[in-house]
Amino acid sequence: MAMETPREREIAAEDSIKVVCRFRPLNDSEEKAGSKFIVKFPSGGDENCISIGGKVYLFDKVFKPNATQDKVYNEAAKSIVTDVLAGYNGTIFAYGQTSSGKTHTMEGVIGDPNKQGIIPRIVNDIFNHIYGMEENLEFHIKVSYFEIYMDKIRDLLDVSKVNLSVHEDKNRVPFVKGATERFVSSPEEVFEVIEEGKSNRHIAVTNMNEHSSRSHSVFLINVKQENLENQKKLSGKLYLVDLAGSEKVSKTGAEGTVLDEAKNINKSLSALGNVISALADGNKTHIPYRDSKLTRILQESLGGNARTTIIICCSPASFNESETKSTLDFGKRAKTIKNVVCVNEELTAEEWKRRYEREKEKVARWKGKVDKLEAELSRWRQGETVKPEEQVSLIEGPDVTTPITASIEGKLDDSPMPATPGGGLMIGSLSNEERQKLEEERERLYQQLDDKDEEINQQSQYVEKLKEQMEEQEELIASARRDYEQLQQEMNRIQQENESAKEEVKEVLQALEELAVNYDQKSQEVELKNKEQESMTEELLAKQVTLNNTASELQQLRDMSAHQRKRIAEMLANFLKDLGEIGVAIGGESNENLKIAPPESNGKLEEEFTVARLFISKMKSEVKNLVQRCQGLESFQVDCNKKVSEYEKDLAECRLLISQHEARMQTLTESMKEAETRKRALEEDVDALREECAKLKAAEQVQAVTNKEKAEEKEAATKMRVALEEQMDQLRDAHQKQVAALRDELSEKQELISELKDLNQKFTLAHQQMQADYERLKQEEANKSVKLQELMLLNERREQARKDLKGLEDTVAKELQTLHNLRKLFVQDLQARIKKTINAEDNEDDGGSLAQKQKISFLENNLDQLTKVHKQLVRDNADLRCELPKLEKRLRATMERVKALETALRDAKEGAMRDRKRYQYEVDRIKEAVRQKNLARRGPSAQIAKPIRAGQHHLSNVNIIRTGNRENECKNAFIDKNKRIPAVLMYNGYA
Ligand code: ADP
Ligand code: MG
Repeated sequence: MAMETPREREIAAEDSIKVVCRFRPLNDSEEKAGSKFIVKFPSGGDENCISIGGKVYLFDKVFKPNATQDKVYNEAAKSIVTDVLAGYNGTIFAYGQTSSGKTHTMEGVIGDPNKQGIIPRIVNDIFNHIYGMEENLEFHIKVSYFEIYMDKIRDLLDVSKVNLSVHEDKNRVPFVKGATERFVSSPEEVFEVIEEGKSNRHIAVTNMNEHSSRSHSVFLINVKQENLENQKKLSGKLYLVDLAGSEKVSKTGAEGTVLDEAKNINKSLSALGNVISALADGNKTHIPYRDSKLTRILQESLGGNARTTIIICCSPASFNESETKSTLDFGKRAKTIKNVVCVNEELTAEEWKRRYEREKEKVARWKGKVDKLEAELSRWRQGETVKPEEQVSLIEGPDVTTPITASIEGKLDDSPMPATPGGGLMIGSLSNEERQKLEEERERLYQQLDDKDEEINQQSQYVEKLKEQMEEQEELIASARRDYEQLQQEMNRIQQENESAKEEVKEVLQALEELAVNYDQKSQEVELKNKEQESMTEELLAKQVTLNNTASELQQLRDMSAHQRKRIAEMLANFLKDLGEIGVAIGGESNENLKIAPPESNGKLEEEFTVARLFISKMKSEVKNLVQRCQGLESFQVDCNKKVSEYEKDLAECRLLISQHEARMQTLTESMKEAETRKRALEEDVDALREECAKLKAAEQVQAVTNKEKAEEKEAATKMRVALEEQMDQLRDAHQKQVAALRDELSEKQELISELKDLNQKFTLAHQQMQADYERLKQEEANKSVKLQELMLLNERREQARKDLKGLEDTVAKELQTLHNLRKLFVQDLQARIKKTINAEDNEDDGGSLAQKQKISFLENNLDQLTKVHKQLVRDNADLRCELPKLEKRLRATMERVKALETALRDAKEGAMRDRKRYQYEVDRIKEAVRQKNLARRGPSAQIAKPIRAGQHHLSNVNIIRTGNRENECKNAFIDKNKRIPAVLMYNGYA
């Protein structure tokens, strides 16, 4: 980039604000609501005209909804990059109602090559330009990012700075004092800063949409460059502003905001409108920049030293028509504003010298003119009339057209022209001095205003800090209070416990005392009783001796009784033996188990009796069993008899049958014999006939011999023979028939005989069996009868035994009775004897036996009672002894508990004291910290710029970052010459 000559730079050019207009497409909700696209873009090459509702607006450029981000940037913002790098100030701000596309236009989607907006494109372009510039140029780029909400400036790069103030530098250019400035050396760093600012913005607010539509966000890029060859320095500030939504906030305001706040929200925007209106109305001498922070910051951009582009963003929807119109009106007004732009250059010494000479010349010329004017005035005052030719021309000045460089003389903000509207009349009456005074006064007042602003800022931040601290403190206090309450409760509880423990201890002590008293009494009693007992034992010993004597006598008696018992036992044994024999006689083998060995002679009587009784009862049951069995056998015998008679009957029948069969057999054998005889007769007949036949044949043969002689005879003989033969045949047939019939009959008879024989056999067999059965039955019967006989005998014996047993029982009972009597007698005897012995003793000891007896019994009773009492006392004593350690233990435990409670109480008190001390210490510490912080805040800490040199790509940034010293040198040089401290210094705290 070619550098302008110093001469050109000095000349400030008038430059009107550039206003471009951008319409966004209809959005979804507008389309849904059926809004119409009401804007028309008249055809023409310039694209700088739109019409809405018949009204036509002209701007520097109009972007249709389909205009790309790239197009908008190229045609509306790109030129500002070269301006800024050439040392001009620049401003781009977007104006329009909410959701008209301001943020889209300014920011877009950072990082997206198509959707990114103006800011990222500018940043990229600035760095690209720098990398393409001469190598001897060194750049310092720093950025700030803040937002204005409710007329408070909040630093987006340092959330602690919530209310920054606007100050003016030496050249009376307003700037945000204390705003964080970040030195950046690449676009990425800038984007990081933007991201950081955006995230901080999100953190601080609850409803981001609402917040962003009501706050202005300002991104400031400050570019300084130094020519390392000729030390020329240029600086350019670029404000990139995304304004709040221009729509009117309704009177009631948004939800949750009070009316005042609602008014405040749009204060800066209305101030902006007012400033623009005032600027547009060329006659206005007072421009109300000071009405809001926004207008103060944008002071240079509006009618000052800056190239300004306003992008007005509009919605094309019919629904937004009125807003769109007012936005367009705003743009129209802004378009008329003229800025006076010049390069911000730091002059070299030579240049300053030259200018100084020039100014000196100018002053001399002015002085000459003033002198001339004064001379003329004095002439006028003296009443002379000065001829027009002689009058000094007021129009021509020594150097009227010489512009004042903004960087040297600054600019009068509110009143570049003399005074108020009424000022024209007052000019005459106000002397130069007065005017100067007034101006000074105003200056002073402004200064004061700024100071106050600064103070307010400080105070508000301080208040913020204090608030935080207060909250902390309150929390601390609350927690301390809670702790204290808890401790108090604890203490109360402990005290109560202590009280109750004390009472308990008291009770226990009382009880112990009572017990001790009781114990004393009891021990006394015990002693007494012991004494008594001793005397008693003595007496008892004496008694014991007599008792021993009696005992020996008793022993003798016992021996005697043992002897008697032996005798009884022997008797019993004998008796039991008898009984056993009876049992054997009755029970036989089955009673074998009952045979118990006869009780030992020295066994007890009762046992023996029980054994005997057992025996008897067993025998009884046995006898009963036997009787039952006898009855059963008797009935069985009757049955057997019946059966025997039946069998006899059967036998008789069988015998009859057998005799019948024998008779039949006889007849049959007889008939057989007859048939035999007949057969023989018939055979004899046959033989006779055969003989006859043979005779006849012989006769025939004789006849045949004779027959030759006598044929006739022969004939007759044949005839006779035939007849005879016939007769013979017939006879033979009959004979044969008879034989066959006889034979048949014979065989039949044979069969019959065999059958009968079989039958006979059978019958004989049956007979034999029956005979055997009969025999067996007879045998059985005999057996049974024998058995019966035996049983009857047994029964009789048993009956006898029963009777005997009864008798025995009676005798035993009698015996027992006598035994009992004996025992009784023996006992009585024994008692009598004992009594006797005692009486004998008593008689020996004392005369009166009754009195003695009574005494003894009394003593005995007494002794008994005493022993009882003694026992009771001993038991009581033991109980008490048992109880004593328990009570002692309890007492000890209570004492310990009391001690523990006391220590706990002490601890709690100490804890409370400690807590109080700690709390005090904490408070002191916080106070100290606050004081320290306040002190620390007063000392600003400078940050070192990251220098960027032109001609080197940012990728090789590492090479161009200088050492700290060099950097500081540069910076210092920069500061010294420019004398703009706030622009270079970064404040971490507030001054
Ligand atoms: P504002 O900042 O004015 O409140 P935004 O920039 O947030 O409005 O835009 C609102 C919505 O409209 C966004 O979703 C944005 O992407 C979209 N938008 C705005 N302008 C355009 C445009 N020219 N083309 C496409 N979409 C747009
Ligand atoms: Mg927005």
